[in-house]
Amino acid sequence: MINICLDGPSGSGKSTTAKDIAKKLDIMYLDTGATFRALGVKAMRLGVDVSNEKAVSDMLDNTEITVKYENGGMRVIVDGEDLTPYIRENGVSKVASDISAYPKTREKLLSDWRAIAEKFDVIMDGRDIGTVVLPNSKFKFFITADSRERARRRVKELQEMGQNVDFDTILQQIEERDYNDSHRKIAPLKQAEDALLIDSTNLTKEEVVEIILSKVKEGLK
Ligand code: C5P
Repeated sequence: MINICLDGPSGSGKSTTAKDIAKKLDIMYLDTGATFRALGVKAMRLGVDVSNEKAVSDMLDNTEITVKYENGGMRVIVDGEDLTPYIRENGVSKVASDISAYPKTREKLLSDWRAIAEKFDVIMDGRDIGTVVLPNSKFKFFITADSRERARRRVKELQEMGQNVDFDTILQQIEERDYNDSHRKIAPLKQAEDALLIDSTNLTKEEVVEIILSKVKEGLK
């Protein structure tokens, strides 16, 4: 079974890289951040106060979340509705990050992710895949990039989606989210000791993909 772990901070290029690798190796791609984001969309719609752990817990008790694959893409279904179109909207990132810090949220998702990794060849991206979700995986990568470069990429992505955004605001959001994700008690953003660190600040997408592919191919020999 091929299980590839791809961790790193927001905007490091994990998801683009993971998608590309999944296509090239013809394996499944599981974007774990998308599942937190979908829960974030639901919380925003319901007006749940995400700083209140009990309120989030009550919401989770009444939430059914699954992923499905359609035309090669992953969709996140919450309570029967496909929330994928809404998960990249700007406010969702912070709410997803807040919700993801609660143990109950992670428990709800973790067993599903592991079940997918047991059944399928998969590349999974997130914050704690190499450290917590699949600690025994043979293929672990930690992608990072300078925060200004990550902000530049995020601004470009949002502009392409037609959203009007300001660089300094996005940079501040990215740095806040890095702090939140790295300093929480459970499953913080952290490089696994046996992960290969890739600093993508001065690398093209293709170069990052090449580094990972060559390591995986070498490991499969
Ligand atoms: O990767 P993405 O930015 O889409 O993730 C959204 C949020 O979900 C992150 O800021 C992080 O707080 C959380 N997350 C997490 N663990 C993962 C994946 C994402 O806590 N494995």
